[in-house]
Amino acid sequence: MADDAVSSGGADGVLPGWEIVVGLEVHCELKTRTKLFCGCANSFGQEPNTSICPVCLGLPGSLPVINKQAVELAIRIGLSLNCTVDKSIFHRKNYFYPDMPKDYQVSQYEKAINENGFLELPLSKKVVRIERAHIEEDTGKSMHVGGDGGRIHGAVHSLVDYNRAGIPLVEIVSAPDLRSAEEAREYVTELRSILVASAASDGKMEEGSLRVDANVSVRRLGVEEFGTRCEIKNLNSLRSLVRAIGYEARRQVALIESGEKVVQQTRHWNEDQGVTTAMRSKEEAYDYRYFPEPDLVPLEPSAEWVTEIRSHIGLLPASRRERLTSLFNGVSSGPVYDQIVTAVGLGLDDLVAGAVAKGAEPRLALARATNEVASDLGNLEMLTVDNFTEAIRMESEGKLSATQAKTVLGKMLESGANAREVAKSLGFEAMDSTVIEGLVDQVIRSSPKEWERFSSGEDQLAGFFVGQVMKLSKGKADGKIVTSILRSRRS
Ligand code: ADP
Ligand code: MG
Ligand code: ZN
Repeated sequence: MADDAVSSGGADGVLPGWEIVVGLEVHCELKTRTKLFCGCANSFGQEPNTSICPVCLGLPGSLPVINKQAVELAIRIGLSLNCTVDKSIFHRKNYFYPDMPKDYQVSQYEKAINENGFLELPLSKKVVRIERAHIEEDTGKSMHVGGDGGRIHGAVHSLVDYNRAGIPLVEIVSAPDLRSAEEAREYVTELRSILVASAASDGKMEEGSLRVDANVSVRRLGVEEFGTRCEIKNLNSLRSLVRAIGYEARRQVALIESGEKVVQQTRHWNEDQGVTTAMRSKEEAYDYRYFPEPDLVPLEPSAEWVTEIRSHIGLLPASRRERLTSLFNGVSSGPVYDQIVTAVGLGLDDLVAGAVAKGAEPRLALARATNEVASDLGNLEMLTVDNFTEAIRMESEGKLSATQAKTVLGKMLESGANAREVAKSLGFEAMDSTVIEGLVDQVIRSSPKEWERFSSGEDQLAGFFVGQVMKLSKGKADGKIVTSILRSRRS
């Protein structure tokens, strides 16, 4: 997981004497069929400006009609984040920008549909408060051509695509409860799993269906008052999120330590240079002149409808983790628990739970899922629970060595074939235990000194002997069988 060497916060010693404070605003595109206020398709990757109409272009005389499915998915998100779902109203947020054909964005300002929720982080066990999760419409996309890395500065001309304009979003605003870049990463990872599990969003950061704005401030350890924050816009990967927070916190600490002040600003993250740069400060902030949207009535979801929506939410990540931890005596920390968190985060828990229900050894199923299967997630649909179970059983019964089992799983993911067929085609015949006995005896004879030490109780030498037998058998002998033969030879 920790593939970034970049800092997080006071606690890990990178910024000694300081604490980072982070609050995140996460924009998530809803998986609806159509846009928020019109019948245009909500789809990614179409030809530019092919999914547009008078409503999402804001042409005079057009009127919005709220998309019921969008409201339903927004409520799913609210319920999944333990929010109170209540009456809400839409406002117009007025500003001019070429990717905003209407010159205003319809959003929920004073009263959001979902308020006051929380989520619990599985590893740090931290409870992060959710201030609100409101509905709004997405903007279009502009593309700046001929300049530096797609930025407007120095561009020769700009193109605009309104396919995204009017796609329903839910913006999830956390309280400033996060205390390091790592916690922010854990929060987004968990939030993403919840959004996917509740079937409200596909959660694809790489396609822009999940975009994060990070509010970052720093304060001296022990000080209660928050520092002045900066907001870093549009982080679209976990890696950028971690790096941007680390950079921004170090920048702010350096400013304060040199006697200067942090200015409240909106900042841009430059991925190539690894720095944040100022976009606009508080004084230059837009005055959005919010006012209630006159063309839409308030949303008042009935208690019955909310109850019905709740009954359709599938198993959420916390329950999914519980389902797996119950297979391991309710483990709540340590390497097995970490693997459980990974399995649920990657959507592999159905596979593991299914295999265990069919008799697979739990630890082995979990390990193979979070390593071998996880390394080829793109082919997950090629692996049925039955085939996975069979591979795990062949390994735990000693018909495949660990090395062989890993290779077999890799091929199964590529071809969709079952474990037996793959093992056969690779020439992985089960190695007879009498053959293994022969190999063990051969190794004992060629290493008399090591054998004497092992026989007189130096248990750590078992690894040496297993290794030698593995070499002779070219990885085909089963480690467990080798170990048990070794022990029986010693007594
Ligand atoms: P605004 O209305 O200007 O966007 P909010 O109060 O709604 O301001 O806060 C926006 C986000 O900023 C929230 O996610 C919140 O947690 C976060 N935030 C507020 N104050 C701080 C701070 N001092 N340091 C870090 N994050 C903060
Ligand atoms: Mg904000
Ligand atoms: Zn439209």
